[in-house]
Amino acid sequence: MVKNSIRNGIIGAGLAALTLSGCGTDSTASTQKNSSSNNDSHHEEKAYQSTHKTDTSNKDKKQDQSSQSNDKNKENNIPTSANGNKVTVVSNPKSILVLVNKTHKLPDGYTPPDLTIPHVKFPYDGTYEKMHLRKPAAVALEKMFKGAEKQGITLYAQSGYRSYDRQKAIFATNVQQQGKKQASIVSAEPGTSEHQTGLAMDISSQDAEFRLDQDFGDTKEGKWVAQHCADYGFIIRYPKGKDKEKITGYEYEPWHIRYVGKKAAEYIMGHHITLEQYLAKNQK
Ligand SMILES: [Zn+2]
Repeated sequence: MVKNSIRNGIIGAGLAALTLSGCGTDSTASTQKNSSSNNDSHHEEKAYQSTHKTDTSNKDKKQDQSSQSNDKNKENNIPTSANGNKVTVVSNPKSILVLVNKTHKLPDGYTPPDLTIPHVKFPYDGTYEKMHLRKPAAVALEKMFKGAEKQGITLYAQSGYRSYDRQKAIFATNVQQQGKKQASIVSAEPGTSEHQTGLAMDISSQDAEFRLDQDFGDTKEGKWVAQHCADYGFIIRYPKGKDKEKITGYEYEPWHIRYVGKKAAEYIMGHHITLEQYLAKNQK
């Protein structure tokens, strides 16, 4: 993953001279079924399983609807500087349209309100933190995978939610081992990974040997996802093209989908724009 992240991470110009994979470093992301690997971080994730279980109470549903309708990006400017970028803390972390990138971070310690494990295929056994998504995204993912299956396309969910604490630990370990500069290249600073929203999922396929790399975009599964994800409320969050990379700060990631709801997704994918552009347009 570190190698991948570095390979995927460098773009010519953009928000920062050096960019990292939008998925950051998750050492368990490509651990597959029947794999003999059983590393420490695996155990770490296993220990997590009972703390973030399904919560489908009406209270949360109501909260969700209200946060969806109040999706204005009211933000507080703070003088934090990460990778030389001015970073803003978003004030709408629960909105399904929340913007999280190198310059927009989630509040410290933010935990999504309604995490659940979608009933879809994962290429590994066991229960891990990364299997979770927020409820609306999980439901949409289930529908999308079913829709794909009907057309003979089998998708696997690899890596979704990542907690603030886990991202913090990953980043801290990398800083300790490689120094802050290198750590910023191979992993996202806590709060700036979209995986912390619980609205993003890395998906893959058997054809792509469950790897999260750009080749996925050329597989029949990857093509299906690009063509149909908007029907279910998802977007390819980091689209192809230097112009797009400059806006998102990340290279093309055909495997990383982000839930934004059907209306926004259809507009974004239909007009070949980024979430950043969509939000900027809708704030005018
Ligand atoms: Zn990702």
